[in-house]
Amino acid sequence: MKSQAKVVVIGGGVVGASVLYHLTKGGWKDVLLIERAELTSGSTWHAAGGMHTVNGDPNVAKLQQYTIELYKEIERISGQSCGVHITGGLMLAGTRERVDWLKMAQARGRYLGMQLEMISVDEAARLFPLMDKAHFKGAMYDPIEGHVDPYGVTQAYAKSAQIGGAEIVRHTRVMDLKARADGSWDVITDHGNVHAEHVVNAAGLWAREVGRMVGIELPILAMEHQYLITGDMPELVGKKEQLHAIDFEGELYTRQERGGMLLGTYEKAGVPWSPVQTPWDFGQDLLPNDLERIAPSLEVAFQHFPALAEAGIRRIVNGPFTFAPDGNPLLGPVKGLKNFWVACGVMAGFSQGGGVGLALSSWMITGDPGADIWGMDVARYGDWTTLAYTNAKVRENYSRRFSIRFPNEELKAGRPLRTTPIYEQLKDKHAVFGDYCGLEHALWFAPSAASAQDEFSFHRSNDFSHVAAECNAVKDSAGLLEISNYGKFEVKGPEAANWLSRVMANRVPAVGRIALTPMLNERGKLIGDFTMCRIADEHFFLIGTYAAETYYMRWFERQLPPVGVSVRPCAMQYVGLSIAGPNSRALLQELVRDDLSSTAFPFLSFRRMEIGMVPGYVGRVSFTGELGYEIWVTTDYQRALYDLLMDAGRKYSLRLFGGRALNSMRVEKSFGTWTREYRPIYGPLEAGLGRFVDFKKNEFIGRAAATEEKQHGGALRLLAFKVLDTDSDAIGDEPIWHEGKVVGWVTSGAFGHRVQHSLALGYVPTALASATSGFEIEIIGNRHHAQPLTQAAYDSSGARMRSVTQTQLPTR
Ligand SMILES: Cc1cc2nc3c(=O)[nH]c(=O)nc-3n(C[C@H](O)[C@H](O)[C@H](O)COP(=O)(O)OP(=O)(O)OC[C@H]3O[C@@H](n4cnc5c(N)ncnc54)[C@H](O)[C@@H]3O)c2cc1C
Repeated sequence: MKSQAKVVVIGGGVVGASVLYHLTKGGWKDVLLIERAELTSGSTWHAAGGMHTVNGDPNVAKLQQYTIELYKEIERISGQSCGVHITGGLMLAGTRERVDWLKMAQARGRYLGMQLEMISVDEAARLFPLMDKAHFKGAMYDPIEGHVDPYGVTQAYAKSAQIGGAEIVRHTRVMDLKARADGSWDVITDHGNVHAEHVVNAAGLWAREVGRMVGIELPILAMEHQYLITGDMPELVGKKEQLHAIDFEGELYTRQERGGMLLGTYEKAGVPWSPVQTPWDFGQDLLPNDLERIAPSLEVAFQHFPALAEAGIRRIVNGPFTFAPDGNPLLGPVKGLKNFWVACGVMAGFSQGGGVGLALSSWMITGDPGADIWGMDVARYGDWTTLAYTNAKVRENYSRRFSIRFPNEELKAGRPLRTTPIYEQLKDKHAVFGDYCGLEHALWFAPSAASAQDEFSFHRSNDFSHVAAECNAVKDSAGLLEISNYGKFEVKGPEAANWLSRVMANRVPAVGRIALTPMLNERGKLIGDFTMCRIADEHFFLIGTYAAETYYMRWFERQLPPVGVSVRPCAMQYVGLSIAGPNSRALLQELVRDDLSSTAFPFLSFRRMEIGMVPGYVGRVSFTGELGYEIWVTTDYQRALYDLLMDAGRKYSLRLFGGRALNSMRVEKSFGTWTREYRPIYGPLEAGLGRFVDFKKNEFIGRAAATEEKQHGGALRLLAFKVLDTDSDAIGDEPIWHEGKVVGWVTSGAFGHRVQHSLALGYVPTALASATSGFEIEIIGNRHHAQPLTQAAYDSSGARMRSVTQTQLPTR
């Protein structure tokens, strides 16, 4: 084994081998893969090898498409067969809700260029005669589905990488990792050490243990997974290979394996494997079978596919593989560690392995993953993903692998975990809570405890009239919203202003003022949007998306100079309440000594104030489109502040409102939000944030690319649409049609209660940005006319939000 390498990849499963291949493909030749046993000695060797393109996250779906297309390439380079069988696949729906879900998946596939087709039960049975039609209501056909040989695929990646210059060392275990001061690594193995510039943790079943070598606890857990192979079946003799089929109601998948069928289940009572420590002596081993555990699924399988009941069982496989809490991979550089990368938690290595390898290698070589991989970024998790939390969430995710998640469905496992001081008070007011980064936050308020739950649906549900009342209260009088679930950062030091001016695209505000600002990467793409508040010359308070806290901190740490400025995440040290609506000024004025008139405290002001006895920061901003204030206090004061505002609010018809009302109101205002309208695939001009980029100031990150975008206009435009004649609202990821062709996708949708119609935000090509007609948005299989709006649906002039008068404005 060599003693020096540019990169050491730890782990020779399908993921490590793919990363190695893609590094060589990207031009890095001095790369070494270290495998503790033979290649495929983790989850890979006993996988069922199934692959498909459909995924709930369109960006992950794209990487799955790429993976499947890649097999021809590595077969050609390596001469090694991947054993690819493209059979096509069926997703079988047993309920009306599942048919709706499939229609939505099909629609999402349209703008990804997928050829998914909704077919009748009769057509499905013609394609897959083993099914009993009586149990199904519809199906979706995907021509690009099939299976591969897991060993062949891994070898093909490995051989292609070796042809490209990589070295692979087997039977060598990485025992420890030691960081050097310059950010390089000493990789300590049982056969000597290697000094490497970069280390990639692709250790699959042992990725958690390799993480511990560098002091991190990766949120992954292995689950036992069983599939069985039946005896030979006369029904298959002389026939074309059977399709892959997923039967959601049975929580199972099936495909042909030689003369029989392979049947796998994601049973409800899934069992974690090695929940704390993966044994190092586990190799190409299997776990004991537990047929009883999967008996409920088998019963359904034998009813839905009667021939299987007669076929007998030839072999059962029970093997472990790893999951992150949301089932998506963990990918990318780890915050706080230089040149340490992860590619783990990959639960569908044969659909995702290629895309994961491509994204990680691009990130390492060019500094950018080259695709929107937010849904897979290791930085989407933070400190709340403790071992036990991960355990609860992974078990839940496993048990729901084939369950529908409705847009208004909040998952239950691991809750309540994090609460703010006013949690019980909000509960007493019948709040229906959601969970965001493990933190409970109010979605809407029900009239009674008994009605404080969502009826899950793809359509408008039982919250509709209550959310409407909340929006109307904000429009007509005043509303109170808890806003603790934002990310907050304190930036301090003599260099703070200069640094922010370089990292953020907008101008740094004067003391006492707020600037809204995008944050761009070197390619001029959006990697954040912040409310930047200046407390003092050398002291700033940034407000952004909480889920991206680690993601932002990873970027900030990379940009920080050695001295002169410090950044501290303080999301839970400062919690907040926001009041909004025409009465909000009068209400707050009763509690503070400061003059809140628009002359003394205009829109976009920020100042320390005492609200009654409570010290806090007050910002005059608005995400609702009404006159509004955000009040930030240290956590110990939140309860007193809440009581104070609620008491004083009685006179002003103050009403609590939640996240669903806020979403409706921000869509009415065409205000975008991170992970929906703002993602690293869009430029600021495309996203409608051009006015927040200050080209007149000093050099800032992304300036050259943003200038180019301004000159050429960018490829896409974010538009707002009024969706006509619909009784369901868009939720995001629906296709946008123009004159019969799919041209874009929806990022957010909502019913606008103040404007009384359905709304959607979404991206279309710039060339269509000024088209005034011909648009349709597909919602649950139906295309609805959509009228593009040239300005925000609600109060387009911003007069209400900038309100200068004390008195209540007339309502529309
Ligand atoms: C029963 C079953 C059925 C499955 N069916 C499918 C399917 O149909 N389709 C699909 O896409 N996926 C399927 N999977 C999942 C699939 O197996 C995984 O997605 C994939 O194997 C993950 O690969 P990996 O490279 O991340 O991890 P692993 O395969 O676990 O590889 C990690 C490698 O790292 C090595 N290693 C670990 N620590 C060290 C160290 N310290 N030093 C050196 N080497 C180390 C290990 O020996 C191992 O070879 C299935 C899994 C199981 C268990």
